[in-house]
Amino acid sequence: MRVSSGSPSSDSRMVTFSIAPMTTGARTRMSVRRLTVPYGRMRSTIGMIQSRGGRILTITIGADSIHPASAPPVSSPTSQHPAPAVTASPTRKVHADVPVNTYKPRSPFIGTVTENYSLLSEGAIGRVNHITFDLSGGGLKYLEGQSIGIIPDGEDARGKPHKLRLYSIASTRHGDDLGDNTVSLCVRQLQYEKDGETINGVCSTFLCDVGPGDRVKITGPVGKEMLLPEDEEANVIMFATGTGIAPMRAYLRRMFDPGERARNSGYQFRGKAWLIMGAPKTANLLYEEDLQRYLRDFPENFRYTKAISREQQNPSGGRMYIQDRVMEYADEIFRLISDAGTHVYMCGLKGMAPGIDEAMTKAAAARGLDWAELRPQLKKAERWHVEVY
Ligand SMILES: Cc1cc2nc3c(=O)[nH]c(=O)nc-3n(C[C@H](O)[C@H](O)[C@H](O)COP(=O)(O)OP(=O)(O)OC[C@H]3O[C@@H](n4cnc5c(N)ncnc54)[C@H](O)[C@@H]3O)c2cc1C
Repeated sequence: MRVSSGSPSSDSRMVTFSIAPMTTGARTRMSVRRLTVPYGRMRSTIGMIQSRGGRILTITIGADSIHPASAPPVSSPTSQHPAPAVTASPTRKVHADVPVNTYKPRSPFIGTVTENYSLLSEGAIGRVNHITFDLSGGGLKYLEGQSIGIIPDGEDARGKPHKLRLYSIASTRHGDDLGDNTVSLCVRQLQYEKDGETINGVCSTFLCDVGPGDRVKITGPVGKEMLLPEDEEANVIMFATGTGIAPMRAYLRRMFDPGERARNSGYQFRGKAWLIMGAPKTANLLYEEDLQRYLRDFPENFRYTKAISREQQNPSGGRMYIQDRVMEYADEIFRLISDAGTHVYMCGLKGMAPGIDEAMTKAAAARGLDWAELRPQLKKAERWHVEVY
């Protein structure tokens, strides 16, 4: 729990802690203990309990009972909003075994394309494909949130083999067909204009053009930043733009796909998952059918908010971007973040990060909080996960 420093408060309320059974020396207290102190001693009491290995179950301030993670900062007793807690989630289970770099660029795995289809609807901008590779005959295992490298065929301008490009994995560890033998990607073809000419990105074009049976050099997996907590009751807030949905698609399948749930007896997600998705047009929304099915089947657990920049307006009449949604829902986002079981994931184009940071900065300031201080604490607690490119 984070408690900001500050002068002792003149608040006359009393604070009661209930503390889980704890070991003191050789003895273990068997029952929940209660401790009541003046409000001004709340911070030092929390420190004292924690230094003795105690776990606070609830804190009651006056008549209000709150989750310990939501304890208000002692320095601002008049603050209307609780300060977000920034400890590692107490229920977080650590991933025991994260596969990394099973295949390196010098000896990549050769995967075979099984399918490659467009994810866009008519009228969409650009080209975005879902591509699946068969991994038979190799040992490439991965977890949701990791990436793989792709080495495109051909040579660069200097006649050297192309360098690898990373792509977030869009499938769960079991693969789209649950056969434990495939990996899928969600790839946008990079295209830009230069000197009146259209330039196609090397690897993204290669990937969008491959077809079933084609063999592709794959490296990895890599990445530990975007791993999903194993806690089935965690809350997961996801900010995604464009192909940034790739890891989120894997998380959401793991959480809500019936085949996945049948496979994963140890992971029956019961928390809240909230996807805030940015796209230029409705036709550019990705995996929409799956998302609508999760909404229908898990209305208590899944929430889906869209920011469609060319079709929706923000409150000032401009285009609706993901950061406008963050501002709109700042109260709820902050309330969720104040729960130590909440993780936030951000993935997509680099340009999205400053806008979200700005929105979080404004929202935090409105609550008397400093986002520049909070964000690193959330990151340190492994609850703020960012992968932008
Ligand atoms: C961790 C990670 C995960 C990723 N996940 C995904 C994913 O899931 N899906 C996905 O589609 N991509 C993803 N990417 C991006 C991907 O790795 C490639 O960067 C992307 O596909 C472009 O590669 P390319 O070979 O097609 O382009 P290249 O041929 O390498 O061209 C890229 C270069 O073109 C230049 N350029 C780009 N835009 C412009 C412009 N507008 N004007 C002038 N020059 C420009 C820049 O120099 C840039 O470096 C991810 C990247 C990282 C780091």
